Amino acid sequence: MKKVVICGKGGIGKSTISTNVCVAAARRGLKVLQVGCDPKHDSCSRHRDGGVPTVMARFAETGRLSREDLAALLVEGRNGVHCIEAGGPQPGEGCAGRAISLLVDLLRECPELLEPFDLVVYDLLGDVVCGGFAAPIRTGKDTQVYLVASGEFLPIYAANNIARGVVHLAKRGGGSIGGVIANLRGTPGERPLLEQFAAALGTRIAGSVPRDPRVFEAELARRTVIEESPDSPAAVALSELAATVLATTREDLVRPTPLADAALEEMYLRCMVEARR
Ligand code: ADP
Ligand code: MG
Repeated sequence: MKKVVICGKGGIGKSTISTNVCVAAARRGLKVLQVGCDPKHDSCSRHRDGGVPTVMARFAETGRLSREDLAALLVEGRNGVHCIEAGGPQPGEGCAGRAISLLVDLLRECPELLEPFDLVVYDLLGDVVCGGFAAPIRTGKDTQVYLVASGEFLPIYAANNIARGVVHLAKRGGGSIGGVIANLRGTPGERPLLEQFAAALGTRIAGSVPRDPRVFEAELARRTVIEESPDSPAAVALSELAATVLATTREDLVRPTPLADAALEEMYLRCMVEARR
């Protein structure tokens, strides 16, 4: 089974990328599970009309979760993609990371639930890299972590921070980086900046997704762009990304070399100045 973590800053496109990669893989005949690890709990909403119940809401009702409860929370969406959603606490109450570590622990305790799947994609918020949010990265040494970023400072800052978390977790059974996914916004100097960032981490650009209004149009129809507009530039790029992720082996993974904050800022400013020349 291939385990993939798609992570990055909030709003950067993690769920869009995770969902489309899952659909592309399912359409190649693979058994696929998407694990929503964002308190926003909308990761799997494009797979299934009516949404996906959250582990945290069920836990809040019952105070415990049996294997049967967990099996019931793992629901099937369109294209045969299975979904499970961690959810989170009420705002201002409790810790969102706890919902994610609870789900990862429960899945570890019930390996037979994961066994049927060829591909498990964790859609993971990366603004915070506390122990709870890091739990999906610790699911094994073969786990492939992809950092989603665009050519703005904050997404790159968040991606660099996640890379620091990956280095730290590598000593404790953590995964390695499979690459940077460029979800492009069309800002000046974006591509060279992302290329330099990936190179500085010691990894590659695993895929580049253009800004494409058909992504949002598909979202309004609660569908993926691969389903709604298969020939659109975004759908083609997302299908290529899925092929790259599926072809990635252990040999392609790296332990990243994150930048110091000052070096990251310097790289960003240099790229911005060059783009304006
Ligand atoms: P995240 O899961 O990281 O919070 P989402 O995947 O929900 O982010 O994306 C945030 C918004 O950006 C969504 O409305 C989505 O449709 C839009 N979006 C993401 N990627 C693209 C893209 N390549 N082109 C156009 N819109 C995009
Ligand atoms: Mg999301």
